[in-house]
Amino acid sequence: MRRRLTEIQRDILTLFIAFILTLAGACAPSPTPPSSETATPLPSPTFPPSPTPTLAPTSTPETPAPIRPRYTLTAILNYPLHSLNVQERITYIHTAEETLDEVWLVVDALLYPGAFEMDSLQSIRGPALTNIRQERTWIKAELDSPLRKGETLELDLTYRLSLPARVAQEGLRPQVFGWSERQTNLVDWYAYLPPYIPGQGWLAHPPGYYGEHQVYEWSDFKVNLQITGEPENLTIAASAPESRQGEWRQYFLEGARTFALSLSPSFVHTTRQAGAVTLHSYAFPYHKTAGERVLNTAAQALDLYSRLFSPYPHEHLAVVEADFLDGMEYDGLFFLSYGFYNLDNGTPAQYLVALTAHETAHQWFYGVVGNDQALQPWLDEALCTYAEKLYYETYAPEALTWWWEARVNYYQPRGYVDDSIYNPHGEAQPYRAYRDAVYLNGAVFLEELRKQIGDEAFFDFLRMYVNENRGKIASAQDFFRILRQTTRAPLQPLLERFFQNVP
Ligand SMILES: [Zn+2]
Repeated sequence: MRRRLTEIQRDILTLFIAFILTLAGACAPSPTPPSSETATPLPSPTFPPSPTPTLAPTSTPETPAPIRPRYTLTAILNYPLHSLNVQERITYIHTAEETLDEVWLVVDALLYPGAFEMDSLQSIRGPALTNIRQERTWIKAELDSPLRKGETLELDLTYRLSLPARVAQEGLRPQVFGWSERQTNLVDWYAYLPPYIPGQGWLAHPPGYYGEHQVYEWSDFKVNLQITGEPENLTIAASAPESRQGEWRQYFLEGARTFALSLSPSFVHTTRQAGAVTLHSYAFPYHKTAGERVLNTAAQALDLYSRLFSPYPHEHLAVVEADFLDGMEYDGLFFLSYGFYNLDNGTPAQYLVALTAHETAHQWFYGVVGNDQALQPWLDEALCTYAEKLYYETYAPEALTWWWEARVNYYQPRGYVDDSIYNPHGEAQPYRAYRDAVYLNGAVFLEELRKQIGDEAFFDFLRMYVNENRGKIASAQDFFRILRQTTRAPLQPLLERFFQNVP
């Protein structure tokens, strides 16, 4: 979910983006060694061995280990100063036939002036980096010799993050990254490689006015976190379970798009087991009951979607009450706005429940199956909105009428489902038009599709779509191709009613 911006605030954002662009040429990161002021050498903890090999091909070719980028992040957070010193290692194996002569890194912290300060960036395996430069929120570098298929590039970065203060302002796009009095959020906080698309190159988009713009490759994460100035009762929600080694907190997450953390001295932490998965709720103290409702809803949704789509791929899911007015998904962790908790009415007929089901579904549509969130946001948002309906059908059919009326029909959704986040719509309420088309009309489309092809074909299709695109970035073409493999029903009139581009 994203809220709309007012015209004035959009102008401010435009000026801000222009400012970033102006700075881009002048702020190319220096590849020189870190200064003593900005890069306190970080102690090297001894890491426990990774549970399974994830990068090097194994000796048994019939079960090759997945080849995906690996991120090793060692970070020291100065809690009272809201600053983070980070050492990052990225290991990338090039899998495309064509050689690679340039590498891109996405650094979303560059959206916030002064938040990201690079100390060093160098290649420690594979070609050396030359012509390192910043463009928008990306760092680009040329390789001094081409990287060929099967070869490895390993990058070492050190940088300092000064977390931005998160101030809620009516109408402004809610900010997830940064700190407020009661919550510090580390989301999209590290440099990452965008997906490399053979024949096209690195796939990275600029932010839009609403919606998400990132495209993430399935990756492995190893995170080591130390906190200085830690307040009493600090509780940390993360994308993966925590283990302690002395001063270090350690996390491993394999097969994920992102690794997120949320810290608060106010969290009330409760857990619940759902099969092999441990669910964690992190709510503010006066929302204990709502936190329990969220936990129950997430457990039900996790069980349902595991049966309908594919088993949940992790052993951990954290549901975090957000100190901002939005919901937001990451692998193994999602945020739900305190606004939904405030309005808890004790029944399933409310946004707190609908949005818990929605954000849980993102673990599949965003996590297991990635998509281009900027250009084809419907591939996760329409499916997650419709997953809310599947939740109500199964667990709270008495609230189904409420869901259709309050969540969908009230807005009289219209507009092509395959809209991008960049379409200004030329309307007074661009966010509303975007949401109505992509989320709500997307759900209407899926309901009509299901009626037309029948439950059996519909759920077969969803399973096939998830299984064929597991760990990949699915496209609309994949969606339609698999759909046409599942059913012989004449789909063209329906598709042309809801989509501007029907392949
Ligand atoms: Zn969503």
